[in-house]
Amino acid sequence: MTETKTGEAEVNDKPAEEKQEAKEKVKEESGQKSGKKDYTGSKNPLTIFYHWCKACNICIALCPHDVFIPDRDGKPIVEYPEKCTQCAICWLHCPDLAIVSNEK
Ligand code: SF4
Ligand code: SF4
Repeated sequence: MTETKTGEAEVNDKPAEEKQEAKEKVKEESGQKSGKKDYTGSKNPLTIFYHWCKACNICIALCPHDVFIPDRDGKPIVEYPEKCTQCAICWLHCPDLAIVSNEK
């Protein structure tokens, strides 16, 4: 029985620690770790249409991960894109629909 399912038997024989590491690696590669995505480089989680933005600061205040900082006019800058979890709070609450996700 073990001969016909060699792949499965090998996986099951691995120590728990090794299995956990393998799972983490798969999650990391698919960008699912802690719900965070890889926004390093030129990738940006959001697009902000500044000509629609009235600098109300709602998005900055509501973002649970402090992704934004205000520019000198009070409009949001995506300062920490790596912290964005695509939770949708900012674009759902923007009264001017000035924020859209680049992922959805
Ligand atoms: S999607 Fe969520 S985490 Fe990302 S910037 Fe908007 S409010 Fe913040
Ligand atoms: S919630 Fe919308 S209008 Fe208000 S500051 Fe953010 S992007 Fe601008």
